[in-house]
Amino acid sequence: MLIVGGGLVGSTLAIALAQAGVDVVVIDTQDPRAGLDAGLDGRASAIALATQRVLAGLGIWPPLEAHAAPIKDIRVSEGRSPFFLHYDHREAGGQPFGFMVENRNLRKALFHRVGELNAIRFLAPAVVTALAREGAGVTADLSNGRKVKARLAVAADGRNSRTREGTGIRVTHWPYEQAAIVCSVAHELSHDFTAHEHFLAAGPFAILPLMGDPGRPGHCSSIVWTERADLAPTIMTLDEKDFMAELQRRFGDFLGDLEVIGPKWSYPLSLRFAERTIDKRLALVGDAAHAMHPIAGQGLNMGLRDVAALAEVVVDAKRLGLDIGDGTVLEGYQRWRRFDNTLMLAMTDGLNRLFSNHIRPLRLARDIGLAAVNKLPPLKKVFMRQAMGLVGDLPRLMRNQPL
Ligand SMILES: Cc1cc2nc3c(=O)[nH]c(=O)nc-3n(C[C@H](O)[C@H](O)[C@H](O)COP(=O)(O)OP(=O)(O)OC[C@H]3O[C@@H](n4cnc5c(N)ncnc54)[C@H](O)[C@@H]3O)c2cc1C
Repeated sequence: MLIVGGGLVGSTLAIALAQAGVDVVVIDTQDPRAGLDAGLDGRASAIALATQRVLAGLGIWPPLEAHAAPIKDIRVSEGRSPFFLHYDHREAGGQPFGFMVENRNLRKALFHRVGELNAIRFLAPAVVTALAREGAGVTADLSNGRKVKARLAVAADGRNSRTREGTGIRVTHWPYEQAAIVCSVAHELSHDFTAHEHFLAAGPFAILPLMGDPGRPGHCSSIVWTERADLAPTIMTLDEKDFMAELQRRFGDFLGDLEVIGPKWSYPLSLRFAERTIDKRLALVGDAAHAMHPIAGQGLNMGLRDVAALAEVVVDAKRLGLDIGDGTVLEGYQRWRRFDNTLMLAMTDGLNRLFSNHIRPLRLARDIGLAAVNKLPPLKKVFMRQAMGLVGDLPRLMRNQPL
């Protein structure tokens, strides 16, 4: 198997397959060691409980566990409205909804696990200069003059996937007029492992619990501050004091004194959805197949669901002695993931449109909606299971079963 793109999704797929006895070559334009640097990506990801099970089943979780903050409660509110929605893990069986992991730590854990598996060859930095997909297999020409042959190629090269571009698969794409400003803050009071999603007119402002200093856990959070795309560059260039004042205005004072720690980043936001996730001897996974608004923290979760489903389909085909790159095998993957990914893209896009404005009738509808879900235990339970990633046709890895 050839995987183009060894990011969070591509590396996890390589580990899943290698652990099940499939030989894998991963090609990435970036040396994976660069991704371990704190300066590269300041994001932390909310991973749902079902996604955590994938990481646990693949041996990626142990080095992450001590740094992962359990999400025990989730509180959704908007503007100055007194209405809110509160998910309490005790109402959902006592398990956390998921965990906050810093991308840098996840990369470190993946890098470590990749190094343990002899069935993975990670070639980076390297570029695929030509990818021939023929009847019997695929051949990739690399920039360093090498050739890689495999039965199946996987595009895991992110939202601007060049591998996907080379196929003619059409992509639905629209930019959001928003950017996500990301930073970490230390705060005086403990977050008690509650994730806050606070809707403001420019977009959601999320305060997500991080473990922080192990000697004093609970006093550090990751901020994903959605802002108008035309304002974000100005905010990014504010001096420390003015940035802090803008941040504090949105954050409030419920966690006491605040301090920004480390650098801040800004990410442009857009939606991209490939019309197909398969082609001749090719499958798309992760952001290469579907890049969505981070409003519900679902992009990586969906990517790792792709991984669990594709790995299962491929491993089952291999066990039966079938050609893993055959169209019927790939159809099984596409059928499995299509509905879930379409639904999540529609949901994240719809939520962003519904909440990111000041329109009065919509504000009223939102308030009623939040309050109604909060007061309707059966409906709330459905949403809580959704937040845990426990709905739908789950692959074996998400049901705590081996591949
Ligand atoms: C602000 C923000 C917050 C987010 N928060 C969350 C969250 O809380 N929870 C969640 O589930 N998701 C979240 N997401 C989404 C999540 O970050 C992405 O869905 C996820 O990183 C996608 O991973 P990927 O491996 O598919 O793509 P990428 O992370 O883009 O990785 C692609 C890899 O391919 C490599 N590559 C690129 N081009 C080539 C090429 N031509 N050849 C070879 N290699 C190539 C790159 O070097 C990289 O290693 C967030 C996104 C944003 C912007």
